[in-house]
Amino acid sequence: MTLQFWGATRTVTGSLHYVETNGKRFILDCGLYQGHRDEAESLNRNIPVKHIEELDYLFLSHAHIDHSGNIPTLVKSGFRGKIVTTKATADLISIMLLDSAYIHEKDIEYVNKKRRKKGLPPKEPLYTKKDVEESLKYLEPIQYEKWFKVSEDVKVIFYDAGHILGSALILIEVQEDHGKRRLLFTGDIGRKNLPIIKDPYQVENVDFLISESTYGGRYHRPYKEVSSELRDLINRTYKRKGKIIIPAFSVGRTQEIVYEIHNLHENNELPDIPIFVDSPLSVNVTEIFKRHPECYDDEALEIINNNENPFGFERLIYIKDVEKSKELNSINKPCIIISASGMCEAGRILHHLKNSISDKRNIILIVGYQAQGTLGRNLVEKKKVVRIFGEEYERKADVIVLNEFSSHGDRRDLLNYAEKSSAEKIFCVHGDPDQMEQFAQGLRELNKKEVYIPERGDVFEL
Ligand SMILES: [Zn+2]
Repeated sequence: MTLQFWGATRTVTGSLHYVETNGKRFILDCGLYQGHRDEAESLNRNIPVKHIEELDYLFLSHAHIDHSGNIPTLVKSGFRGKIVTTKATADLISIMLLDSAYIHEKDIEYVNKKRRKKGLPPKEPLYTKKDVEESLKYLEPIQYEKWFKVSEDVKVIFYDAGHILGSALILIEVQEDHGKRRLLFTGDIGRKNLPIIKDPYQVENVDFLISESTYGGRYHRPYKEVSSELRDLINRTYKRKGKIIIPAFSVGRTQEIVYEIHNLHENNELPDIPIFVDSPLSVNVTEIFKRHPECYDDEALEIINNNENPFGFERLIYIKDVEKSKELNSINKPCIIISASGMCEAGRILHHLKNSISDKRNIILIVGYQAQGTLGRNLVEKKKVVRIFGEEYERKADVIVLNEFSSHGDRRDLLNYAEKSSAEKIFCVHGDPDQMEQFAQGLRELNKKEVYIPERGDVFEL
């Protein structure tokens, strides 16, 4: 078996790994690289896998754009194999890739306007809606925990990764003369007791493990503690007549926050405060959540069985329409506004921040990872003055960070998982270098002798 690492090597985005075994060739994930514009552009436009047209499969772990977002480029580059993934992921990427194409098309319009002024020729978007529609034809959704036969001696199975709706751990089992060999790819590993979705499934008897390392060096606080903190800050802000602005990714985090607020509401722990989810994509994604109860944990199922909708209750209002979104600006009473993008780089969240940031009664609640160089990161760093739409704003609103809503396991979870998998060779991917080093060190302390942090392009013969 040959492994080659092409993405999420010593970084958190652009997940892409190549596997060749018993005459079959496939890739694990095809994510978008996110980072500095020029570097990201060149990495995303040129998928480095050789003979893309001969690939048999793309096995996709989950719908997050850093794992799925470059599929249209893959298909444009000649891929004609099958994209195998869970049913929920197939549904999610169908709308998320369209949204991504829209962003790329808008983005290039802006870039081309600037290029025209400089007399430079226009550029094409990375991909368009049409490219997305074309690539969705190759989808082959499968069920969790059912073997998918690649050939007589190679099969693949997806287990719940407990990270977001539809997320999977991908196990590849190869029959060889001297016995079976098992390679497990974690995609992103979730956490126990996350709302709505199931806990990660523990795969055992693994030989080789490709593991994410996002929080390989950090610990999360228990979920319960965070939930009471959320309750307290909502009550506090309500009393001083402030607003709570929550930037959140449309998939996963938004539904989890809504679910958590729903629980607080059900237990009569919240004041009479309206809650707005202002994002057209969140609205669509929430519809997909509703369609996939097979992914829910027992708690979420019980709520559904009691004929309640955990994503909608009387005080929660979903906003699709732009005009309605603008009307939120003139609301002059306490409310909660959840909106995208999660790192405050684009989207409607910018209008809400612009409107609320200079009032000290308000709170900006950060619930997800904020990459370097984003407005979100400036907020986390509590900068006194920030730029929104190119203008400076004095920040008087308080910024509160609740990392624990993260849908990634922490150091303890990742080390436990690797240990129980009993893998002898472990490849650390998908993490900032410091987190990876600490994770690798932790693995070595558990007596794992073969731990690697591959560089881009590194090849391993197993
Ligand atoms: Zn993810």
